[in-house]
Amino acid sequence: MLDGTGSMGVFKDIKNLLIGMRITGKHLGRHAITIQYPEEKWTMPERSRGVVVLLSDKETGELNCTGCMLCMRACPTAAIEIDAPRGEDKKRTLKVFNVDNALCCYCGLCEEACNFSALKMATMYEYSTPDKGDLFWDMKKLQEAGRDVPYEDKRKKKKAKPVEAAPTKEATPVKEDTQTGPPPPDDKASDTAEKEDEG
Ligand code: SF4
Ligand code: SF4
Repeated sequence: MLDGTGSMGVFKDIKNLLIGMRITGKHLGRHAITIQYPEEKWTMPERSRGVVVLLSDKETGELNCTGCMLCMRACPTAAIEIDAPRGEDKKRTLKVFNVDNALCCYCGLCEEACNFSALKMATMYEYSTPDKGDLFWDMKKLQEAGRDVPYEDKRKKKKAKPVEAAPTKEATPVKEDTQTGPPPPDDKASDTAEKEDEG
């Protein structure tokens, strides 16, 4: 039996059904935003924060890291471990660089702290493992993972010296001519005149 409240409820249900069908209809012709993982892989956007990797010089292949330890100090979870003792010449030699991905929270502070284009959060995923020990990446593994990772080398920009502006004509100081009177006689002309007089 339909009383006043019941019939109102039916109309409300039909209205909601039509709203739902309208929204479904709007999306029928659109591309799906989901992918069939793992058959299909997602390419992460360039600035995504994936796994931490170490970057190498594009020409020499050597690690860019100077061992300054800024990234280690910036890391809030102590996921980075570095050993880079100073030699007699006061320069650091990078001996140990480890990242424990089990501790990393992907905050990106290490990348921000690095001034030497030496570390990046690469757009990589799929390194889960049943063995927690596999999440501990040493320097060699970090370098291999970052080998083909594209990056902007900020070090070269810093090396470039600012070009000094060439002095403009207006700015060039003009040497004042302090000599007064007529210009000195031309040597050749005076020689010719002397010969004529002798002749
Ligand atoms: S992303 Fe954050 S937590 Fe992970 S290593 Fe870098 S600073 Fe540490
Ligand atoms: S990765 Fe960068 S911040 Fe970290 S020690 Fe190396 S040069 Fe310093």
